Amino acid sequence: MKIDISKSLFEKAQQFIPGGVNSPVRAFKAVGGDPLFIKKADGPYLYDEDGNAFIELINSWGPLILGHNHPAIKEAILKATELGTSFGAPTAKEIEIADLITQMVPSVEKVRMVNSGTEATMSAVRLARGYTGKDKFIKFEGNYHGHGDSFLIAAGSGAITMGMPNSPGVTQGTARDTLLAPHNDLKAVEELVEANKGEVAAIILEPVPGNMGLILPKKGFLEGLRKLCDREGIILIFDEVMTGFRLAPGGAQEVFDVTPDLTTMGKIIGGGMPVGAYGGKKEIMEFVSPTGPVYQAGTLSGNPIAMAAGYAMLKHLHDNPSIYQELDKTGGKIVGGFKDTLQRLGLNYSMTHLGSMFSLFFTDKEVVDFETAKSCDTQLFGKYFQAMLSRGVYLAPSQFESFFLSTAIKDEHVQHIVQANEDSLKEVLDI
Ligand code: PMP
Repeated sequence: MKIDISKSLFEKAQQFIPGGVNSPVRAFKAVGGDPLFIKKADGPYLYDEDGNAFIELINSWGPLILGHNHPAIKEAILKATELGTSFGAPTAKEIEIADLITQMVPSVEKVRMVNSGTEATMSAVRLARGYTGKDKFIKFEGNYHGHGDSFLIAAGSGAITMGMPNSPGVTQGTARDTLLAPHNDLKAVEELVEANKGEVAAIILEPVPGNMGLILPKKGFLEGLRKLCDREGIILIFDEVMTGFRLAPGGAQEVFDVTPDLTTMGKIIGGGMPVGAYGGKKEIMEFVSPTGPVYQAGTLSGNPIAMAAGYAMLKHLHDNPSIYQELDKTGGKIVGGFKDTLQRLGLNYSMTHLGSMFSLFFTDKEVVDFETAKSCDTQLFGKYFQAMLSRGVYLAPSQFESFFLSTAIKDEHVQHIVQANEDSLKEVLDI
């Protein structure tokens, strides 16, 4: 595969941009080789500057559940740009999208728009602290909630990929108020709450983590957290930046029928534009400024173009709920194909799948938490990533990410992906 243009762009980028990229995992450090510079995308395909085409399983790290350049979203964006790019004042579209979100995610009675998932989680934890008057919160090892200081402690996603689950620059004072529990371990959370009785404002988690690969909740885990929070007056925050509008119209909370007090959202909610949101019980949300004392603001929050894209996306998903069955079927075909191959090749790597998300873990352990995720052979993943890339399949460049499907992936692409997986495994394992 010729990547001369990408190579020279990467060299130049490194002169002006730290590591040549605006988000660390994009540098391909964990998988070796140079990153590809992308020129355009359409449907299920990414095209790099050298003219190579790839079927992709990232979809902008989750947002593009309908694939690239979906006509409904493109049209909404183009129409919105005719009217101006930013007003910093209320618009009718903000009401429409908020109304639609509250219909799709019933636990969200009021919602505040922000510009990224990071802002959503930072704001939700501040709100929980302000509302309860308590300082500490519990997060789970390997969960990723963006790059806010208090979350960069045993963080997943790029933080673990880059070998920095705990970032320098986060003060000890901040770190002290973040309590850590192993994912899927209800007993450990109960003990932590007991040891910090009356001091825990919130428990935040990815109800279905996608940031250490895709991990499914153990039976009773989410329900147990809900009960514990009710008993102890703790705010339960589901970080559905990844799973929101992806696993179901109402996200993981709909799939597992557990209702959080607050929900953080991002990715799909912006239709590919930079948007995040947090919302939940009216009584808690009214604690946010200007109705309440907890301050949170944003010059570009509710940006009219971002709102138009997000509304078009959510409306499309709301009006076409069969999309979720379709995505689950596509996921089932790919995962089924991968599992057949693993069996035929005598390999016992573990896999997880839920709807439009799935992971192939290079470990024979069942992956249920950060410890088991870290047992993966990440070197082997790097080789596999490159082997898939050379066969025209673009994956997230890290073992600690989920694969994301879009509705643009049809049977012919499924066949290509399954064959590429088999050929790549044979190549990297020399079978
Ligand atoms: N929470 C979760 C669950 C995420 O997956 C991410 C991003 N991968 C974030 C928060 C942060 O979102 P952003 O990158 O938009 O700041």
